[in-house]
Amino acid sequence: MVTVEERYEHLEKTIRGYNISADLSQIRAAYEYAREHHGEQMRRDGTPFITHPINVAQIVAEMRLDSESIIAALLHDCIEDTDTTYEDVAKIFGVTVADIVDGVTKLTRVKYSTMEEEQMENLRKMLFAMSRDIRVILIKIADRLHNMRTMEYQTPAKQKKKAFETMEIYAPIAHRLGLAKMKWELEDLSLKYLDPVAYREITERLEADSADHNQFLGGIQKKIQAKLTEMEVPNAVVYGRVKHPYSIYRKMYAQEKTMEEIYDLFALRVLVDTVADCYNVLGAVHDLYKPILGRFKDYIATPKPNMYQSLHTTVIGDEGIPFEVQIRTYDMHAIAEYGVAAHWKYKQGIRTNGGEGTYEWIRRLLENQEDADAEEFIHSLKVDLFAEEVFVFTPRGDVVNLPAGATPIDFAYSIHSAIGNTMVGAKVNGRMVGYDHVLHNGDVVEINTSKSAKGPSRDWMNIAKSSEARSKIRQWFKRERREENIAQGRASFEAELKHAGLTMSQVTAADALPAILKRLSFQTLDELYAAIGYGGYTALKAVNRIRDELQQMSRAAAIEKAAQAAEEAKAVQTGKPPAPRRSKSEKGIIVEGLSNCLVKFSKCCTPVPGDEIVGFITRGYGVSVHRRDCPNAAQDRRTGADQGRWIKVTWSDDIREAYSTALEVVCKDRPNLLVDISTALSTTKVSITGMNVHATADGFAIFHVTISVTDAKQLDQVMRKLHGISSVMKVNRPAG
Ligand code: MN
Repeated sequence: MVTVEERYEHLEKTIRGYNISADLSQIRAAYEYAREHHGEQMRRDGTPFITHPINVAQIVAEMRLDSESIIAALLHDCIEDTDTTYEDVAKIFGVTVADIVDGVTKLTRVKYSTMEEEQMENLRKMLFAMSRDIRVILIKIADRLHNMRTMEYQTPAKQKKKAFETMEIYAPIAHRLGLAKMKWELEDLSLKYLDPVAYREITERLEADSADHNQFLGGIQKKIQAKLTEMEVPNAVVYGRVKHPYSIYRKMYAQEKTMEEIYDLFALRVLVDTVADCYNVLGAVHDLYKPILGRFKDYIATPKPNMYQSLHTTVIGDEGIPFEVQIRTYDMHAIAEYGVAAHWKYKQGIRTNGGEGTYEWIRRLLENQEDADAEEFIHSLKVDLFAEEVFVFTPRGDVVNLPAGATPIDFAYSIHSAIGNTMVGAKVNGRMVGYDHVLHNGDVVEINTSKSAKGPSRDWMNIAKSSEARSKIRQWFKRERREENIAQGRASFEAELKHAGLTMSQVTAADALPAILKRLSFQTLDELYAAIGYGGYTALKAVNRIRDELQQMSRAAAIEKAAQAAEEAKAVQTGKPPAPRRSKSEKGIIVEGLSNCLVKFSKCCTPVPGDEIVGFITRGYGVSVHRRDCPNAAQDRRTGADQGRWIKVTWSDDIREAYSTALEVVCKDRPNLLVDISTALSTTKVSITGMNVHATADGFAIFHVTISVTDAKQLDQVMRKLHGISSVMKVNRPAG
């Protein structure tokens, strides 16, 4: 039985082995502080509680982390399990250590009550987001590893739960951070409790065959080593191992194979000094053994997102048994085993107290990688880098992902708008909070609702951080508070109008109001007010448009007046009666300020009466009429040299009988489609002047139909009819 003191001395020896400048007196102080405060507490295996922090510190030391990490590891359960506070730790061991311990404590308090697949990535992200200092998550993984190593003393239910969490959350995090060694151990220990039968089968089998395995591996090892000595590769080390139980387990399941049939049970590893040596060794191995095609991977040229570098090849041994060879430098090996932790030593002395700097070096390492996964990896770290997201729990343990700075209002609306609309109070971690309380990672948020709730208040819109919540609140006001919205909207509209130097009577004048409403796309003024009231439209925008419209109208009136005066003057001269006041329409189109000019309908958008239209004075053929929504008539085209050529046109009352226009019908192709479309068109009163179809390679059919209609209303009926045909997906009016 090892005593507590012996365990501690072993730890100290490990630290001295890699860090000559370690602060051993503070480390001992931390050990004594933890031992004193954990006092008589015992672990389930019957050892004093203090053995746990010492062992966690031991794992952290094996990752070669700095003194602060060791101290924090020794103290990591003090805030959670003893009367120690953050302030106590900060006073004795400094703020950095206190922050790390506090971070680990927060991760410990996270309760994982969900087992749902889609929640797991959120949980992993949350842990990252909560670890403002990378050392927090490294210590937490060490803590979990030691707990998994001593899991046999727990109840079966707890074993299963912890093993599941470890497999789903901690092992993937270890993988992301490149902690290969810890990842394997976490996975193997989890498997032991998740599938004890398979685990036992695999480990017992490995045990039984270990003599054979060792002989096999030993033979290869000797052969390769001899070759490398002959080639004079300096400092080359070759060693072999059987793959990990979980790796074998996964292969058995994925390939539905028995253990005998598993392809590569064995792995050899060759460590050398330089990259050039790596490739030399690869050549030598391929000389000795026949490589299996397609199994060579060059992770030196293209490192994995977690910084892993190695050459991998699978070859066939003398007995016909395949085995994998991994070749890498000693530096690459350190990273392969300890991932980001291996880089820690290079950064010692640089303060990284959270924020942007914490992951800067990881990001730099990743920047040179072109692997698509690297991007994803950076994104998962980004949750901390830019602190743009916050992760909180529902009372039943689901993780909800909200924008940073989110409040209970955002939370409530993200669950369901009905929850937000009937909210009467909110609790965070069991305590009542105000609606503007800012949520933190790992908070458990509970919303109290009541059927008699009076609904959201207007200032919730300013408190909410997510656009989702704001738009749902806006929806509510739009629906529930029409009268109030109208009153409020009217008030701000009138204020804005006054500000612009306009009067209400200018807006409501009989000859102006219809044009204004049309311009604003509202049926009535009340609708406009309501929209302004709930925030769907701004008073400023409305007033700006009205001012434009009024200016245009007065300009048109002036032109007409001038034209009329000219005609009258001419009439006086010639003695003929003046022409009728109204401009005569050509093809049912009135061109502002011009009479009897040539008019044509643009082929790009084929407007019909009822469409909003605009005219363009062409260089050869009068005025070309476009739909207002045609890209060729888009507002941004109405600038530059041709600006003055755009002209207002309207439909006259004396409309021609039929206008030709084009439709595009997009369908999922099927038999009898053409017949169904022709039949549908024949039941309408329109005449079809052209139709062509083309089928796409991916099973769609696109019909181009040209028809003659009297106006937009009739066209709309035709479009609806076409849309009603089964497998028709879209009916468009092409433009542009
Ligand atoms: Mn612990």
